Amino acid sequence: MSVQACPECAADVTFAAAPEPNSLFECGECRGELEVLSVDPLIIAVAPEVEEDWGE
Ligand SMILES: [Zn+2]
Repeated sequence: MSVQACPECAADVTFAAAPEPNSLFECGECRGELEVLSVDPLIIAVAPEVEEDWGE
């Protein structure tokens, strides 16, 4: 189990198990979508927002 600070709101984000690289998860505090950039060391970042399809 490991704890990281949410890059969005700085709340503690707890992982019960080792996260998968590039997996997405939601911060329980700010509901922001976060992405696991690296697992060793564990690095998390705000996931890029999925934009609406602008068409064409
Ligand atoms: Zn957060």
